[in-house]
Amino acid sequence: MRIATITNWAYGGTVCLTIAAGVTMVMASNADRIERDAVRQRDLFDQLAFEVEADEAQLTDQARLAAVTGDPSHEIAYNHTLAAIGPVEQRLSRLKDNGAKEEELRSLEEGLRWARTLQDEQKAAIDAIKRGDEITAHKIVFGAEYERELERVHFLLGRFRYMLDQRSDRAIEQASQASQRLRTVSEVMVGITALLFLFVLGFVLKRRILKPVVKLSDVVNRLADQDYAVEPPQLSQIDEIGDMAHAIRVFRENGIERQRLERERDADWHVRDLLARMTQRLQGCESVADLFEVVRLFAPRIAPDLSGRLYTLDARLGMMACASEWQSPDGSDAAFAPDDCWALRRGQSHMPGGDLVDVPCKHVPPETAAATVCVPLTAQGETIGLLVLENRAGLQGPSNNTKVYIELMSETVGLALANLKLRDALHEKALFDALTGLRNRHELADTLRRGVAQADAARTPLSCLMVDIDRFKQLNDRFGHDAGDLTIRSVASTLDNAAREDGTAFRYGGEEFLLLLPGCGEDRAVERARLIQERISAMTLVHDGVPLGPVTVSIGISTYPVHGPAHALIGSADAALLRAKEEGRNRIVLATGRRDTNAAAAAEIG
Ligand code: GH3
Ligand code: MG
Ligand code: MG
Repeated sequence: MRIATITNWAYGGTVCLTIAAGVTMVMASNADRIERDAVRQRDLFDQLAFEVEADEAQLTDQARLAAVTGDPSHEIAYNHTLAAIGPVEQRLSRLKDNGAKEEELRSLEEGLRWARTLQDEQKAAIDAIKRGDEITAHKIVFGAEYERELERVHFLLGRFRYMLDQRSDRAIEQASQASQRLRTVSEVMVGITALLFLFVLGFVLKRRILKPVVKLSDVVNRLADQDYAVEPPQLSQIDEIGDMAHAIRVFRENGIERQRLERERDADWHVRDLLARMTQRLQGCESVADLFEVVRLFAPRIAPDLSGRLYTLDARLGMMACASEWQSPDGSDAAFAPDDCWALRRGQSHMPGGDLVDVPCKHVPPETAAATVCVPLTAQGETIGLLVLENRAGLQGPSNNTKVYIELMSETVGLALANLKLRDALHEKALFDALTGLRNRHELADTLRRGVAQADAARTPLSCLMVDIDRFKQLNDRFGHDAGDLTIRSVASTLDNAAREDGTAFRYGGEEFLLLLPGCGEDRAVERARLIQERISAMTLVHDGVPLGPVTVSIGISTYPVHGPAHALIGSADAALLRAKEEGRNRIVLATGRRDTNAAAAAEIG
């Protein structure tokens, strides 16, 4: 119940009680008036009775004076008094008009009747005196009979007055008691009104205001301190305090929601910060191995609920190979065909879990398919990798926020991976010869420097073989440029195989090649040159169905430090090769000693 309703009821009750008290007061005042009327009536009756008695006494006195003196003036006075008294009915009617009861009037009437008898005797006495019968006159008004009748009149009038007094006293007492009773009732009502006020005031203040306000004040203070764990009191009262409690509950719920949103925002900022940091680290990666490591470190922080693997396309095998994994995902890390993944087929994230039916990927174990999401890594429209993420928390897909982070991460990783691949491709183009796949001359200087440093440090030799295809121009002219290219590729492949284990093969020029063999002395270099010659001459090349005939090469050999300083190593080998050409081709020539490096004097091996 609202406080306003309670106070209204209390006000209504007070008004009713006040009206009742007022009515009682009016009734008490009416009782007072009745009491006053009764007193006044008694006074009036006393006065009237007294007048009657006084008249009778006066008549008796005047009659006696007349009887004693015989003076006519007394008779005149007597007659005058008698005329003034008037008839009995007139007196009775005055008393009756003023409220005398029948019984009382009867008593008075009886007294007056006896008074009239006295008057008759008084008149008889006056008549006797007038006749001169003094004795009779005296006998009448002073006789024992007259005295008895006079006493009777006095007695009857006294009784009449007594009856009046009795009745008046009773009326006065009743009126007084009624007045007192009504005053008491009125005072009790005023008291009840005051108590009602005090009760309502106490109830409203303590039960409905003080207690709830103290509780709410405590809650508000704790809410002001951001302590949203506090429980607002459940006040069922429908009043302003109840409204306040409801408002505080709403405020607290809003606060909790705001805190939740702030936590989400902070978590979002944290993850976005991680994504930004990951992007920076990815941009600084020198190799794809660096990239895999960055993803392995950052992915579990960005999406802690997800374990995962990063797959890249192994172009040689045409399979998706696992390059990195984190948080121990289920299933195997074996390579799989791109077609086994719906994300790679469609070029879009694929998440078979959730309310809608979808096809699981073949490369994912069926029991974890619902909790797995595959995200293709694309760059410039080309798919270059795949993120396979698995929700560790349950068999459902990641939350919406996490999906956004995954998309951002996949975009960044895809771009970084594409950049690294592009850089690797450019690097390869810069270092490797496109036709043969061998390293080109740009790489030679570095490799030679490292080889020499290694040879110096280990005190081991370093041999350089300069290889040139004999009469290649003729082959080119006879069978065409493509046949020439085939020959160059075949010779390069033979040289690469010959140098793979302990050295490096370079394409030095058109049909010239160079082999650096660290740790290889003169003798072993000559042996290796012979092996190369044998393998090349054993080649049977056919182009467009046309056999190209046998191919021979001339080889010049120079060994560091036997044949001179490092900077002259290639020049010495080239000089030895020139000598081999001059001496008829298809032969191996070893550079001469340190003394004659500039002239590149060669010693024919055979
Ligand atoms: P020699 O026995 O003295 O070495 O004679 P040669 O004909 O092999 O040498 P020469 O220097 O006269 O000719 C080399 C030819 O190789 C000239 C050039 O057209 C050809 N050539 C250079 N690079 C390529 C290439 O990449 N592909 C093809 N098909 N021919 C090339
Ligand atoms: Mg040649
Ligand atoms: Mg040449």
